[in-house]
Amino acid sequence: MSELIITDLHAKAEEKEILSGVNLTILSGEVHAIMGPNGSGKSTLAHILMGRPGYEITQGNITLNGEDITHKPTWQRAQSGLFLAMQYPVEIDGVTLSDLLNESSSDISNINELISHEADLLGLEKIDMARGVNSDMSGGEKKRMETLQLVALKPQIAILDELDSGLDVDGLKIVSSRIEKATIEDDLGVLVITHYSRLLEELKPDHVHIFVNGRIVDSGPAELAYELEKTGYEKWTTSLETSVSLGGL
Ligand code: ADP
Ligand code: MG
Repeated sequence: MSELIITDLHAKAEEKEILSGVNLTILSGEVHAIMGPNGSGKSTLAHILMGRPGYEITQGNITLNGEDITHKPTWQRAQSGLFLAMQYPVEIDGVTLSDLLNESSSDISNINELISHEADLLGLEKIDMARGVNSDMSGGEKKRMETLQLVALKPQIAILDELDSGLDVDGLKIVSSRIEKATIEDDLGVLVITHYSRLLEELKPDHVHIFVNGRIVDSGPAELAYELEKTGYEKWTTSLETSVSLGGL
């Protein structure tokens, strides 16, 4: 059983507060969706959870399985079982997927067999795996590659930042159902950041959180994602109603 606990997390970049008191606990096998307007700090949260430099954590902490990882370097977080699929995956020329998996701490047996099996499932069978990771790939192919890394590395908790952006309808279905399968078979815990409930049709959230101005202002069951898609964020962005909604938590 794994447990990622975010407590009262405040962070700033270039003197501007971006995270303003995030509280969230993610357990193995659970899917938490974060939805919120552009610029509300969702990617910042994802980056800070994975230890990206350039942000100052001014208050609060992050623990993984009881260990405080708030100030740990990214590689240690990865080794402890945390994984981030970035909103904009980087191209790593000259490093193949099998190089990357070989260098990871997990001892994966039959890496090449695993890659070709999962690549088939994820619709990447036409990609030459001797290429650098994500090199010259389309946006959708990169998202499938991120998913391939995720299923090969078998982390305990995965953070997926707009995994749906760039994916076509078929890709969306394949990727989200593959990750849902990992939540069931490997007890993967997921924090998925998305704007669209479509991703959540296959990857079924246990909790949906509304993220506004650097913090969670409302939480609810999966249906909240559908409500949000109809109404937009207005209910949560007007300060009066935000306080009403918080009062109702
Ligand atoms: P979201 O993912 O919710 O759209 P982001 O987390 O990308 O939002 O950004 C939230 C706000 O913080 C934006 O106004 C963005 O410009 C700002 N921001 C993010 N990272 C940095 C940084 N490293 N330096 C300065 N400002 C940043
Ligand atoms: Mg973002």
